[in-house]
Amino acid sequence: MKPKQKAKTKWPPYEYQRVFIKSFRSVANRVYKNSAEKGFWDGGMLRNRAEMIALMHSELSEALEALRGERKLMDEHIPTHTNLEVELADCVIRIMDFSAGFGLNVGEAIIKKMEYNRKRPHRHGKVF
Ligand SMILES: [Mg+2]
Repeated sequence: MKPKQKAKTKWPPYEYQRVFIKSFRSVANRVYKNSAEKGFWDGGMLRNRAEMIALMHSELSEALEALRGERKLMDEHIPTHTNLEVELADCVIRIMDFSAGFGLNVGEAIIKKMEYNRKRPHRHGKVF
């Protein structure tokens, strides 16, 4: 007699998670396509990953400067949004480009990390 199989739980369990993972991948692929068309991937997989991560940092530094008010509030190129919003968007765009270019599943990792964080203690056991 076969041992009774445990019912498989559908993962990710929620529809919004499935939509997010699929949408993240879809948008990341579009970001990558645009980036490749602009020549950023001319070196293919030999692209310098450390440099790409440094450029993600640079977008966060720009976001910090926007927050400090050293730049005008609304973005020069996307006037419907603040500089802060646009610099944060730049960082996410760079992460998506990296993710699609190197075949990473960051969208799914985000969902799994959120689930992990949800179960962690208050302030994750840290002071701040
Ligand atoms: Mg920027």
